[in-house]
Amino acid sequence: MARDILKVYKANDMKMIKQEKENIENLINNELYPKVFTFPLTLQFELTTRCNVYCKHCYNNSGDISYPPDKMTAQKWKEFSEYIVKKGGIFQCVISGGEPLLLGDDLFDIMDILHDDGTSFLVISNGFLLTEEKVKRFEKYRYKWFQVSIDGSNAEWHDDFRQRKGSWERAVNGAYMISKYGIPLTVAHSVTPGNLHQVEEMCQLAYELGAGSIILGEVNPSGRSANSLDLLLTIEQKRELYNKIEHLNKYYAGKMEIQRSSSVKNQLQRYMNTPNMGAIIRPNGDIRLDCMAPFLLGNVLDDDFENIWLEKAGDCWKNPKVIEYVDGFNDMDDNEYKNYYDEDILL
Ligand code: SF4
Repeated sequence: MARDILKVYKANDMKMIKQEKENIENLINNELYPKVFTFPLTLQFELTTRCNVYCKHCYNNSGDISYPPDKMTAQKWKEFSEYIVKKGGIFQCVISGGEPLLLGDDLFDIMDILHDDGTSFLVISNGFLLTEEKVKRFEKYRYKWFQVSIDGSNAEWHDDFRQRKGSWERAVNGAYMISKYGIPLTVAHSVTPGNLHQVEEMCQLAYELGAGSIILGEVNPSGRSANSLDLLLTIEQKRELYNKIEHLNKYYAGKMEIQRSSSVKNQLQRYMNTPNMGAIIRPNGDIRLDCMAPFLLGNVLDDDFENIWLEKAGDCWKNPKVIEYVDGFNDMDDNEYKNYYDEDILL
């Protein structure tokens, strides 16, 4: 009987989640791992809702020109970064948006405050503003990786998907600059029914740009894609993608890693198995559990972040409202709750 790659991947994921849970429980029982983190290890700074493109699939609805200005001004982000450092700092900061480079010099000021305290970064950008001059300024930081999104092996698909002419060329040039200056480049590629056939060419392009890895991510029903369900892969198309990933991983072995995005449900289940280590700070100051879990802990503009963390964050993944949400979550399109459309839920 032919091997069903979806079933194989699912079984492997389940095994990994179970193993990880047991390992952490053992470590906690042997007092080698904290039951609760008293301060986050990682924070994601969603620096702005503004964006210079308007992607059809944007998971958090960024780039809408009718939005009011971000409550977290550049000055507030700097003050918050200084506060984080004063409280002991974090290991890693994910810089995202919207498009974080729209902050201009302020972005570097924010990163400097954390960098001087030893924080490393994962930057997520659409690459549009990555000129050589900018990339030289990014060179000095420590990175997990610098992620540039490219959605097609040629301009036609990407520019249409991102709804801005010229955006493919800018992203490709920007990605090339990143790797040219020795910054670890990851290309993020959103796979939809319309560009599934381009995956091989896309991997070749990422390799030629010097990427260490490419994420072949499926679009999830969140933000704008919650109302554009034709962007989601069918089960048969997922099967085709996973078969391609398996072949591509062999082809690029030792040269470039081909990553698949993990299922949202699996990722949420993994969070539930470990003491909470992180959160997202949104452009309005909200402290959100995760980009796919619509739960708020408070707001950094109204509350003291450390107090909120100590009061709510440690075991937030065990909260009955969160458990109910994760149990009911479906990776396809029939979730009752629309992420980044319906109001977030305060814990
Ligand atoms: S997906 Fe990224 S680049 Fe596209 S609109 Fe959203 S924030 Fe901007």
